[in-house]
Amino acid sequence: MQASQDQSFPEIRESVRRLCAEFPGPYWQAKDRDRIYPTEFVNALTEAGFLSILIPEEYGGSGLGLGAAIAVLEEIHRSGCNGGACHAQMYTMGAVLKHGSPAQKKKYLPGVASGALRLQAFGVTEPNSGTDTTRIRTFARKDGDHYVVTGQKIWISRAEYSDLMVLLVRTTAREQAAKPSDGMSVLLVDMREAVGKGLTIRPIRTMLNHATTELFFDDLKVPVENLIGEEGKGFKYILDGMNAERILIAAECIGDGRFFIDRASKYASERQVFGAPIGRNQGIQFPIARAYVQTSAAAAMVDNAAALFDGGKPCGTEANMAKMLASEASWYAADMCLQTHGGFGFAEEYDIERKFRETRLYQVAPISTNLILSHVATHALGLPKSF
Ligand SMILES: Cc1cc2nc3c(=O)[nH]c(=O)nc-3n(C[C@H](O)[C@H](O)[C@H](O)COP(=O)(O)OP(=O)(O)OC[C@H]3O[C@@H](n4cnc5c(N)ncnc54)[C@H](O)[C@@H]3O)c2cc1C
Repeated sequence: MQASQDQSFPEIRESVRRLCAEFPGPYWQAKDRDRIYPTEFVNALTEAGFLSILIPEEYGGSGLGLGAAIAVLEEIHRSGCNGGACHAQMYTMGAVLKHGSPAQKKKYLPGVASGALRLQAFGVTEPNSGTDTTRIRTFARKDGDHYVVTGQKIWISRAEYSDLMVLLVRTTAREQAAKPSDGMSVLLVDMREAVGKGLTIRPIRTMLNHATTELFFDDLKVPVENLIGEEGKGFKYILDGMNAERILIAAECIGDGRFFIDRASKYASERQVFGAPIGRNQGIQFPIARAYVQTSAAAAMVDNAAALFDGGKPCGTEANMAKMLASEASWYAADMCLQTHGGFGFAEEYDIERKFRETRLYQVAPISTNLILSHVATHALGLPKSF
């Protein structure tokens, strides 16, 4: 029984838990085994309105802040489910909401809120640029009323299950831009029109069921009216959205951490070896307690970052710190839980090995730990920049 910190938005938490109870371990095991997209789960979340929680009421959403979205994602993960199939439907629309024109908002946001439009693909990473986003090469050349896009992206998740994609491109070559971060732009790509007409999607099989893909752009035409905000300012728009993404992913890590702690505590209390529950041994109970301490501390940091974000205050460093602490706490908890379960932790039917694989991702994506440390060193501490 874990106490305190997870009491915000109790009604939302309770109804997410009820929904998740309809999708128990065997559902996720089957999807994971064959790398199948969890359509039923995504539909249930959509119908319940949980994915439109951040969209203002005037466009059909709930108009709530990150605090509420955190409650949703944390409970999904604590229940043993996974929000990776659809979490981006919650926040990718932020690019349109914050930087789109009134016409774009009216055209897209109501459909995103109802779920009729899936806007859950976010195309930034490229094979040759890695984390150094200013070196992306995917280029959009203006030609009359269209941009013509050529290039390649990698690790673009849910592209096959999205109607729209927020795509970061160069509209001015890095060498010709005033600063490396200038000259990038954000396009809203209509996947329904693009696939087969200049856009090819190739799925990548990974160690977890994440529907991630590689994208090839070969003279894809995108109408100029699909430019979000001003040409050349795209990097700033993308950075804005990344804070929300990091905070929400951190909430998923907190949910994972609590899942592992719940499972380990229960198993350690029940499993009898040498005539007593294994949880009576401090060698077993201290790692569980340590995971609880780490997860609770990280959760406080996540709440802090979300409060800053919801208050419209700068939160880049806090969002990064929250994501780093939460991903490390969930990974420690995952390892602890596997160890607590002994051999049974490796059995598919216990869900531990699946969640173990799933939670490992968060130290790499959406941003790797080293890059967070670099941000903190140079932005918060003023140390000299290494790149
Ligand atoms: C399953 C999955 C889903 C993803 N989904 C998406 C998505 O939907 N959209 C999208 O755009 N991207 C997505 N990504 C990409 C993800 O954001 C990147 O993988 C991540 O940011 C790391 O970039 P990279 O893989 O290019 O690593 P690299 O940049 O090549 O880095 C490799 C390693 O070197 C370290 N490193 C690099 N530079 C330095 C330095 N200067 N100092 C110290 N260490 C350094 C990094 O920390 C990392 O550990 C996804 C990735 C995965 C695996």
